[in-house]
Amino acid sequence: MQYSYSKLTSFYECPYAFYRNYQKHERGESNLFASYGILVHSILERYAKGELNLEDLVDEFTSSFEMSINEPIIMFGKDLTDSYFDKGVTFFSNFNGFWGLKPLESEYKFEIELGNNTFVGIIDLVAEDDKGNIIIIDHKSSSKFSKKDLKSKSKQLYLYSKAIYDKYGKFPKELWFNHFKNDYREKMEFDKAFYEDTIQWALDTIEAIEACMDFDPNNNDKFYCGYLCDYRNSCEYKQ
Ligand code: SF4
Repeated sequence: MQYSYSKLTSFYECPYAFYRNYQKHERGESNLFASYGILVHSILERYAKGELNLEDLVDEFTSSFEMSINEPIIMFGKDLTDSYFDKGVTFFSNFNGFWGLKPLESEYKFEIELGNNTFVGIIDLVAEDDKGNIIIIDHKSSSKFSKKDLKSKSKQLYLYSKAIYDKYGKFPKELWFNHFKNDYREKMEFDKAFYEDTIQWALDTIEAIEACMDFDPNNNDKFYCGYLCDYRNSCEYKQ
C-alpha cells in the first residue's frame, strides 16, 4: 500500500473522512485556506526554479490572489480576506531569497520504502547552508504552531528526512516550517532519536489503519469539521 503524511494524520483527524477519501475514493471539496496555500507555494516554487524574479513576487501574489480567492475567506463569522491578502503582501515584500540558503530542489517528489509499504511526499524546499548542511523546509499557510503541537507536526519533516537520507546519504541538519502568513520560520535541529520514534509511529499507524474495521466520525474539532474537511458539505455527522 502507498501512504503519505496526510494519509496517516487523516486517520487520526477523522477515521470517517479517511474512509471516504482513501477507501471509497470519494472526491471531496477543497477550501479557500488550501487555495491560499497553493498559490503561495506555487510562487515560491517558481522563484526557486528561476521562473520568477524577486521584484515580481508581490505583483504575482496580488494577481494570483485575485484570481484564486474568488469568495471571502470566512472563519467563525469573521471575514479574513483582507488580513490574508495583507499578510501575503507583507511576506513577499520582506522576502529576499531563501534566508541565505542555496535551494537544491523545490517541490521534490519522492517515493521511499516504509516497512512493507511505500511512502510518498513532496518536500517544498531542500536547501543547503554555507557549510554544506541540508535544511528541509515546508511552507505552511497555518499560523505558527503552539509548543504543544510543534513536536507532533514535526513528524511530517522527520518522515521526509528519510527521503533525504536515501538520496543524499545524510540526514538534514535542520527542519524548518515557513509560516508565511506570520513571516516566521520555525527551525528545529534534527534529532535522531525522535526520527526513530517517528518512523515507529508511522509503522504503528499503518498497522492500526490496516486493522481498522469501524471508521467512526470524529466531529470534535469544529474548525476542521466546518472549514477544512473535504466532506464538510456532505457529512451527516458534522456538528
Ligand atoms: S465533517 Fe467532520 S465528522 Fe464529517 S467527515 Fe469531516 S471531519 Fe469527519
